[in-house]
Amino acid sequence: MTLDDCRVGHGYDVHRLVPGRKLILGGVEIPYSLGLLGHSDADVLFHAVLDALLGAMGEGDIGRLFPDTDPAFEGVSGAFLSEKVAAILSRERWSISNIDATVVAQKPKLAPFLPAMKKNIAAAFSIPEERVNLKATTEEGLGFTGTGEGIAAHAVTMIFRTL
Ligand code: MG
Repeated sequence: MTLDDCRVGHGYDVHRLVPGRKLILGGVEIPYSLGLLGHSDADVLFHAVLDALLGAMGEGDIGRLFPDTDPAFEGVSGAFLSEKVAAILSRERWSISNIDATVVAQKPKLAPFLPAMKKNIAAAFSIPEERVNLKATTEEGLGFTGTGEGIAAHAVTMIFRTL
């Protein structure tokens, strides 16, 4: 394998926290008084991971693949969106070396839910769980994440081409 066969990708996403919505992160419903607003289920973690994978492949972003003007994608889960991205990975013979992601949320405490999120993300791409690393951080009260107006997620990935 040469360096030509490896690509890195970066993904970043933000959704606003509002009352009356479920809080879903990495496919896990987290008990909280607020949830993320969006056309889909607003799973900011899955979205960042998908954008990282699409970025690595040079395939644009999830906004291009799943336009929020399309009613077909209303309320859809990260796992659902992952199916199409996994199909592109496989069509283009890309395998995932690893995914590393960070959720930025002042509240609620996410650490207890990270193992379940990791399991869901690994399952969505049929990769071993040890290839997925998830972290959660607060933002020390600073900015829109710190004041609890929204939740952000960052993700990076490395993919490699298989014969
Ligand atoms: Mg999003």
